[in-house]
Amino acid sequence: MTTGTVLVIGGGIGGLSTAIALRNAGFTVTVVEKHADVHSSVYGVGIIQPINALRALETIGCAEACMAVGYPATAWGSMYDAEGNFLFAMPGTQIEDSDLPPLNGLTRPQLHEILTNRARQVGVAIRYSAVFTDLDQGGDDVTVTYSDGATETCDIVVGADGVRSQVRSHVLGAELQPRYIGQSAFRVNIPRLPEIDRIILQEGPDGMAGFVPIGPDLAYLFYNAQMERSERIPDADLPRVLREHLSSFEGLTGRVRDEFITDDSVVVLRPEEALIADAPWHRGRIVLIGDAVHAITPHLGQGAAQAIEDGVVLAECLVKHSDVEAAFTEFTDRRFERCKLIVDTSLAIGEWEMGRLPGFDNVAATNHVLAVMAQPI
Ligand SMILES: Cc1cc2nc3c(=O)[nH]c(=O)nc-3n(C[C@H](O)[C@H](O)[C@H](O)COP(=O)(O)OP(=O)(O)OC[C@H]3O[C@@H](n4cnc5c(N)ncnc54)[C@H](O)[C@@H]3O)c2cc1C
Repeated sequence: MTTGTVLVIGGGIGGLSTAIALRNAGFTVTVVEKHADVHSSVYGVGIIQPINALRALETIGCAEACMAVGYPATAWGSMYDAEGNFLFAMPGTQIEDSDLPPLNGLTRPQLHEILTNRARQVGVAIRYSAVFTDLDQGGDDVTVTYSDGATETCDIVVGADGVRSQVRSHVLGAELQPRYIGQSAFRVNIPRLPEIDRIILQEGPDGMAGFVPIGPDLAYLFYNAQMERSERIPDADLPRVLREHLSSFEGLTGRVRDEFITDDSVVVLRPEEALIADAPWHRGRIVLIGDAVHAITPHLGQGAAQAIEDGVVLAECLVKHSDVEAAFTEFTDRRFERCKLIVDTSLAIGEWEMGRLPGFDNVAATNHVLAVMAQPI
């Protein structure tokens, strides 16, 4: 199947990547996004792109642009203790017959702009401020109703509307929801110091601090803090609270805390949520991708990578099968175990960081995931 109309609900990383892959395969593709424009849904911090994300982006023609504006690193990462003593090297993996680096970092707005430009270039229509209110499956099509009362009919709907997906309730029921894992991520952009040439992790007494290069001169600091979901911190207090969390760190984290995290710093705090939906990830002509079916906490930097891979694999499955049911079934078959490994390992790292999984080998688990991710999708 290479013709037909596809409506992608959600213009995030997964939705845009899927739209490009499907358009390249021959489909007529429209993306509807509830926010008003390309920038309104993207907070301004950075994103880790592991080698498998770059491979999937290469397939849709976006890898080079990401590496041109970002920071392609020659190794995945290194780990240090809270005093700043070196513990372990994590070189990362290579992909056979490919010269992609083990890691690239860039800002989220940059990634969004690259995906949006590419989508438009290949002929994807993107509509902003479009909120669907209902989906109605006919025999061979789906009718979508929008909040302004307009309707439209298409052959396939892709639910790419993220962790709080509304499309999910039409496929898997409204009861299936992500769960808060007990950690939230503080992030703040800082100048890229020379030693931040890969992911730098520093294991603190109460949480993991780390650094990610996201441009020649830009990096971000993150800190995974154990906290209640209900705890609310006013934006103006976030720099102070972050500095308090980092108070016992020496080494790079201590230096960055003292030199760069000021009361004026823009600190972002996001809850970490996880979900892996049982197969199948479709019903009739509606299929789910990305965080809507596998919400991944940031511990391995793989959430967006998996959403991009979903798009590439979905396009391959639809091209291979003339029957939509067969295509969607193969899609979940190819994706489920890979995504589950990432969700489960990310959760285990979070548990270990919170002191609930003593003896867990974070480095071995990360190396294992990186090796599996380098395998073909
Ligand atoms: C703190 C943190 C750090 C992370 N860091 C990384 C990282 O470094 N690397 C990585 O690979 N992953 C990372 N992730 C995960 C990554 O951000 C997600 O996995 C990824 O964004 C999922 O893509 P998606 O397209 O499925 O969902 P999203 O990117 O959330 O996109 C969903 C889109 O759908 C739109 N939408 C929602 N509802 C509707 C509706 N009803 N109608 C129309 N549009 C709608 C939203 O506005 C949004 O644009 C991180 C996650 C967190 C929480």
